[in-house]
Amino acid sequence: MPRYEYRCNECSSVFEAMRPVAARHEPTPCPGCATPTSVLVMSLANVKLSTPALADDAVPQGGSCGCGGGCSCC
Ligand SMILES: [Zn+2]
Repeated sequence: MPRYEYRCNECSSVFEAMRPVAARHEPTPCPGCATPTSVLVMSLANVKLSTPALADDAVPQGGSCGCGGGCSCC
């Protein structure tokens, strides 16, 4: 069962919950205030897939200034 991230409409806390895919948009009880009005923020499975690519792009590839080789200093 995939995990999803939800945000509570009442206390604005963010939490994770295991839900069937078909039920991912249904209200989820908040662990903080128990209000079943939480909204789906995102699928954690998608976050894990996209994060490594973003991290690789953030690593400097060029000279010591970290600009990627596009400036006069490297
Ligand atoms: Zn809450």
